[in-house]
Amino acid sequence: GTREHMLELRNVHSYYGAIHALKGISLTVDRGEIVTLIGSNGAGKTTTIRTISGILHPREGQVILEGRDISHTPAYEIVKLGVAQSPEGRRIFPRLTVLENLEMGAYTRNDPQGIAEDLERVFELFPRLKERRNQQGGTLSGGEQQMLAIGRALMARPKLLLLDEPSMGLAPVLVETIFETIVEINKQGTTILLVEQNALMALEVAHRGYVLQTGQIVLEGPAQELAASEMVRKAYLGEE
Ligand code: ATP
Repeated sequence: GTREHMLELRNVHSYYGAIHALKGISLTVDRGEIVTLIGSNGAGKTTTIRTISGILHPREGQVILEGRDISHTPAYEIVKLGVAQSPEGRRIFPRLTVLENLEMGAYTRNDPQGIAEDLERVFELFPRLKERRNQQGGTLSGGEQQMLAIGRALMARPKLLLLDEPSMGLAPVLVETIFETIVEINKQGTTILLVEQNALMALEVAHRGYVLQTGQIVLEGPAQELAASEMVRKAYLGEE
């Protein structure tokens, strides 16, 4: 049968000009899951996220959100359909305060009551942001900026949260915190697609995963199986 997935990529090909970055990616994300996409530098992880969020459009294949083809839907419409992205490299607004950055995340919404509730929820998930709510984003530490980028994405109250390398550049203790928070966000009902170079941590929190290599999926399965597979252990977990 054709079960409806929250998200489905069918044979997606994406390009940067002549560069063929995604060479036929097929994957699914179901409601309530954390799915991770792992792979080394340049494998196409960020390109996959950008193709889902509509920053890029596939030249071939389809991106299907809850049964609807969004392959050529503009990025701002995709946000309205319930998909929010926390981009790689954080990209917060450095001159705006923490509070203003979070409010920007809710720009497509029209429900002040719900926005206020979600602000409280973000402050509960990230107490540090509450303490620093009136501080300029650019003055935060790297870890705090990462929290702010995730918090800002949550302010769109997404059904599907796309996280691009949330652990990048963070001290190990903060990496733990970020991953714990990702699990908590998922428990509260948000479906998550998590892109990570930190395969070990990603596979610990995810339900399922896909391994990407030079624009193609080379392995997929339950996270525990992937973590145990020889290929993943050799290529991504640094084992001989
Ligand atoms: P990283 O973790 O290093 O970002 P990644 O798995 O996210 O790796 P992508 O950033 O998706 O990889 O890159 C996939 C391929 O597309 C790479 O070969 C990369 O060089 C190329 N690429 C990415 N962005 C561009 C761009 N703006 N213009 C041209 N080529 C690009």
